[in-house]
Amino acid sequence: MLDAAFFRHWLTSAAALVDREAERLTQLDSPIGDADHGSNLQRGFAAVATTLEKDAPATPGAVLTLAGRQLISTVGGASGPLYGTLLRRTGKALGDAAEVSEQQFADALRTGVDAVSALGGAAPGDKTMLDALVPAVDALGESFGAARDAANEGAVATTPLQARKGRASYLGERSIGHQDPGATSSALLFDALAQTAE
Ligand code: ADP
Ligand code: MG
Ligand code: MG
Repeated sequence: MLDAAFFRHWLTSAAALVDREAERLTQLDSPIGDADHGSNLQRGFAAVATTLEKDAPATPGAVLTLAGRQLISTVGGASGPLYGTLLRRTGKALGDAAEVSEQQFADALRTGVDAVSALGGAAPGDKTMLDALVPAVDALGESFGAARDAANEGAVATTPLQARKGRASYLGERSIGHQDPGATSSALLFDALAQTAE
């Protein structure tokens, strides 16, 4: 079973990974965006880590909901409301249980990923974070390691795609040949999750 501490560790590890990889995320956002994805998420996840340390919510649902709200209020770019919605909606779906099973978490995360798709109007194949999130949540029923691998493969597989959503879509065919920054940061979230579960 997964408790509030597990989810706090996950998001704190994610903040550390995002911090370490911020420059790379911003570099990926340079040819097909506005070169701020790393700094956007660095600021957002640092605020999440600080808030969770201060408040330490007692349930998995409350941890994720608080983290999602923090991302929405701290990150200006498209990724803030999208990742914020992912965590907030996942948290809401978990309700107020003190512990949740891996299957309950996988089901809740599916609700969160669906909400990201509804908010941004994107689907897999559009060269967005959903190209990592959807295969990862599909694999999460199997194991955390399988979800991490699926997210990383999904991120790499965005390179040959033409962007149909977000800033990169303004480039049309010139978006082809670059890995999507948001799919790459989503893979980091699943790297952190697999680390936390080890
Ligand atoms: P901005 O584009 O506002 O500068 P970021 O650079 O922080 O925001 O985030 C860009 C990432 O957000 C993209 O690489 C993509 O993965 C994701 N993204 C953008 N628009 C959408 C959308 N409509 N649906 C899903 N993901 C999106
Ligand atoms: Mg950007
Ligand atoms: Mg921006």
